[in-house]
Amino acid sequence: MMDCCSFDRRAVQSGFRGGQESCRHEWDLYFRALCSLYPTLSTQMGYDRDNGTIEQWGQELMDGERRLLRHYIVKTTPGQKSCLETRVFHQHLKTRLGCMGVDRIGLFHKDGGWCVQLIDTLTHYQPYDSHSNMELARERLSKLPTAIRRYTDFLRLQAAEHLPSLRIVGAMRDSLRSALGRVRLELIPADLRESFQVSCLEPVESTLLTFLGGVECRETIGLSGLDASFYESAVYRHVTIDGVSVGDIHAFGVKEVSRLEAALDALPCVIDSGRDYRGEAAVDKYKEIVDAAQVHPHLSHLFGDLRPSRSCSVAEMPERHRAGGPLAYYSDSTFYVNTDLRHPEHQMEALAFHEAVPGHHTQRRIERDVCPGYAYRYHVHHTAFIEGWAMYTESLMPTALPAAQYGVLESELFRAVRLVVDTGVHKRGWTYDEALAYMKAHARITEEECSNEVLRYACDPGQALGYHVGRTVFRDIVRWHASDLVGLHKKILQRGSLPMNVMIRLFAKRPQGC
Ligand SMILES: [Zn+2]
Repeated sequence: MMDCCSFDRRAVQSGFRGGQESCRHEWDLYFRALCSLYPTLSTQMGYDRDNGTIEQWGQELMDGERRLLRHYIVKTTPGQKSCLETRVFHQHLKTRLGCMGVDRIGLFHKDGGWCVQLIDTLTHYQPYDSHSNMELARERLSKLPTAIRRYTDFLRLQAAEHLPSLRIVGAMRDSLRSALGRVRLELIPADLRESFQVSCLEPVESTLLTFLGGVECRETIGLSGLDASFYESAVYRHVTIDGVSVGDIHAFGVKEVSRLEAALDALPCVIDSGRDYRGEAAVDKYKEIVDAAQVHPHLSHLFGDLRPSRSCSVAEMPERHRAGGPLAYYSDSTFYVNTDLRHPEHQMEALAFHEAVPGHHTQRRIERDVCPGYAYRYHVHHTAFIEGWAMYTESLMPTALPAAQYGVLESELFRAVRLVVDTGVHKRGWTYDEALAYMKAHARITEEECSNEVLRYACDPGQALGYHVGRTVFRDIVRWHASDLVGLHKKILQRGSLPMNVMIRLFAKRPQGC
C-alpha cells in the first residue's frame, strides 16, 4: 500500500501544482499509446462524424479523452479513495504503454478496419434520396478516394514491417468487395449515379484492390514466424495478468478442455437438434429470455438494488456484420443477434445472460451510470475483465430451458478450446488446417463456425484468451469473498473495467479496499 500512497502524498503536498506537469506528460504518453494501440477507437468515436479526416478524428478523440482523464485525476487525487484509484490509474498506464504497437497487426483484420468503416459511413448511411441531399453528400464523398489512398499508404508501411498473412489478406479482399457491393446505387438520383461511380466508387475500389493484390504476404496465419514479443505483448494486453506465460495458458487450455469434455460426457442429457432457432424466431426467443432476466427476483441476490439505468433491447444484427460474424454481440444497450446462424435452444440462455443481463449490459451500463469520471474506461477494453465478467455470469441465473446446464458447459468448453488454438496458431506455428482440425474435434460447433473462429484468432492475436482466463479470475475472487456476494458484485461493477492484475491485487490482498 505504501507505494501507491507515496505518489498520492506527493501530489497532495504539492497542492497538485507540481504533479500537474508530470501528469500532463503522462496523459500525452498515454494518449499517444492509446491511439497507436487502438486504430478502431478513433473510428468508434468518429463513427457519426462524416466530414473530418482520419487525422482530425484522432485529434478530437485525444482532446476529448484528455479532458476526461484530467477531470478524473483532479477529482480523485485529493479524496478518500484517491490512493487506490491513483494506483489503479498508474497500473493501467503501465499496462498500456508496455504494449505499444502490438495492435498494428490488427490493421490486417479481415474486416479491413477503418477502410470498411469509411466506406460504410460515407456511402451506406448517406441519404441519397433527393438532389439536395445528394448535393450535401457529394462534398463528403469526394473526400473518400483521398482518404482511402492515405489509408493504403499507411497500410503499405505497416505491411513492409509485418508481413501480413495471405489468408487474412484474402478475407480482407472478400470483405471489401462485399462492402462495396452494399452501396445502394438505386438510392442515388439517376442523373448523378454515373458521376458518383466514376469519381468515388471506382477510384476507391481500384486503389484498394491494387494494394491488396500487390502486398507481400506470409503463408502462415499466426505470428509464430515473426518477432515473438508481438504475441507475448498482445497476450499480456488482453489477459493483463503478470507472470503467466503463453505456455502456461496453452497447458491450462489443454487441461480445461479435457475436464470440460469429461463433465459434458457425464451429463445424462440428450440434445434435441430440432430445437434450433434462426432468423426472426431467434430474435423473439432471445427477447423473451432477456425480458424475463431483467426483472428476475434472483437479481437482488446478486446485486442488491444495483441495476443499470436503462434496460437492454434485442435486435437483429445489421447485414454487414452477419457474414463471417459471431453469433451475437452487445453494443450500446442492445444485444444483436446474428440471424443467419443457427441458435441451439439449450445454449440460448447462456448467450443471453452473457450479452445482456447479468453480463455485458449490466456491467457496461453500470460502468457508465456510476463512474462518469472514469469515462475513458468505457473506451478502453480490458478484454479479460469485460469478457471474463460476461462469461462468469453465464451460470449465475436460474434457467428455464431444457438442457441449459449442458449449454453453459459447452460455452465454457468452447472458450477453453480458444486457449489452445490461439496459442497453438501464434506460438506453436499451427497451420490453418491444424487449427481447424482441433476446433472441429473439440469445440462442438459447425465447420463454418470453426473456420470463422480460426480466422478471428489469426486477426486478433490473444483476444480470444481473455474470456476463459478472465472468468477463472472472477471465480477465484468470488471464492475469496463468498460470504458477501452482493457486496463483492457491487464493488466490481461500480469500479468499472480494470486490468486483471489490478483486480487480483484489489480483491485478493485488500478485501476491504484501500
Ligand atoms: Zn462477450
